Amino acid sequence: MPHLVRENLFIGNITDAVDVLQNGSATVTHILSVLSSASISFFSEYKKGLTIPTKEITKVYAGGGGASASEDDGSGGKLLYLLEYAGKDLKLVRMGVPVRDMESENLLDYLEVCLDFIDKSRKEGSVLVHCFAGVSRSAAIITAYLMRTEQLSQEDALGSLRQSCEFVCPNDGFLNQLKMYEDMGFKVDQASPIYKSFRLKILGESYYRGDKIDSSKFGADPGLPSEVTSQVESSPIGGKNGTSAFRCKKCRRLVAVQDNVVDHIPGQGETSFEWRKRKSSNYNNFEDSECSSIFVEPLKWMTAVEEGAMEGKLSCAHCEARLGYFNWSGIQCSCGSWITPAFQLHRSRVDMSSV
Ligand SMILES: [Zn+2]
Ligand SMILES: [Zn+2]
Repeated sequence: MPHLVRENLFIGNITDAVDVLQNGSATVTHILSVLSSASISFFSEYKKGLTIPTKEITKVYAGGGGASASEDDGSGGKLLYLLEYAGKDLKLVRMGVPVRDMESENLLDYLEVCLDFIDKSRKEGSVLVHCFAGVSRSAAIITAYLMRTEQLSQEDALGSLRQSCEFVCPNDGFLNQLKMYEDMGFKVDQASPIYKSFRLKILGESYYRGDKIDSSKFGADPGLPSEVTSQVESSPIGGKNGTSAFRCKKCRRLVAVQDNVVDHIPGQGETSFEWRKRKSSNYNNFEDSECSSIFVEPLKWMTAVEEGAMEGKLSCAHCEARLGYFNWSGIQCSCGSWITPAFQLHRSRVDMSSV
């Protein structure tokens, strides 16, 4: 049986969802399915012989570097969610999001579409949020929802959810991401150092799993005018006045902008990218720091990275001057911090100016 969490909000497992999809429900009007596949066919694989009528409303794909689940549209974009009418007489509205219950899964990229769907559904009726067991994925989504709507810490939101459903237990990777969500102020801010470090960490894990690293996961090349325009448009914080730019010292080609920088706390040893909240004084003031390197996200001009090597030189795309180094297993900054993985621009090889 689904558990009531808040008015018009239920948590359940796949059996609960099958029951609603098959038999309809007097209360539930919307279903949010958080399963390894967004498709309704997951249900007929789970329960042989079961066919649920559906009518697609829309499918939304995330751009390169966004969501990390394995369903793609054949053109490099990843499915963010599927929206359809489902069940008897197509009376239910179902949103499917492809998320696996793995610590390394990128939940953050799906969070806001899920929470917005829950919000909207509760206004129109009642929503059942379910995953397979009703323990980890659905609980993580509802915890985030309670955090956002009631401004609760991750611990308090999970504690509150446990009062409705005592066995919920999001996996540790999801708990870490919910902590980041709290630290970002109950929103997924792709420009924040927390998010950037997280995305880089996920990319590093993907490299170590042996996945092919292709440039669709890299940041736009700020040296190409068309790309920087789209980057500025896609990033609400991008393109702000006074943003810093880094140019090749030799030929002046633009190689990175402030938004590409993945900041670190000078002098922090092995912890490298720390996910927890950091003092804001550590952000964006690296002019004052002792670091001899600037660490950035991988960018599309870094063709050497795409060749799959563990480490290598980073050369200017225009004049081929050596700008820095990359190493998936990390590079130590002059301040002592280990950055893993590292895409490093040597401060002596680039000039900093404002855009
Ligand atoms: Zn440093
Ligand atoms: Zn150059």
